[in-house]
Amino acid sequence: MTERVVSIDLSTDAEGMLPRQCPNCEGQFTIEGDTYEEEHYLNIRCPYCEWIAEFDEYLTEEQAAYGEAVAENEARRMLEEELGGALEDAFSDMGSSDFLEVETNTDKTDFGHRAPPSPDLGIKIDETVCANCGFRYAVKEGTNNSSCPVCR
Ligand SMILES: [Zn+2]
Ligand SMILES: [Zn+2]
Repeated sequence: MTERVVSIDLSTDAEGMLPRQCPNCEGQFTIEGDTYEEEHYLNIRCPYCEWIAEFDEYLTEEQAAYGEAVAENEARRMLEEELGGALEDAFSDMGSSDFLEVETNTDKTDFGHRAPPSPDLGIKIDETVCANCGFRYAVKEGTNNSSCPVCR
């Protein structure tokens, strides 16, 4: 068995902001992707409820749905490949005969694909810059007194 890893790119939006969702209160926000990577922060804090958890736990619903769709499509693709190969083997074993002409066209094997939904946030956000550390993040429009996701 070969193990295959499906890598899912959680890309930032046009402003370089990375969408996140709190595993505790489910509040959505974005953080500055580049700065976050450069500083190697291990944990982030929810700007709404101050919950602190590892970065990976802050997967948004959109990203989870997106990742699931991408992984599912990849699984289907691998299945199609394997099934196509198996059919070809089966038919080539039969050999050619005057009575039977078999053509296999594996391109046509299609189990249907899901279009990955957009991984972007579906809410309006307000961008904020932390007065202490200068970190850029954005919270839901109209949120007062949000906490900086990276200040300690
Ligand atoms: Zn929270
Ligand atoms: Zn800060």
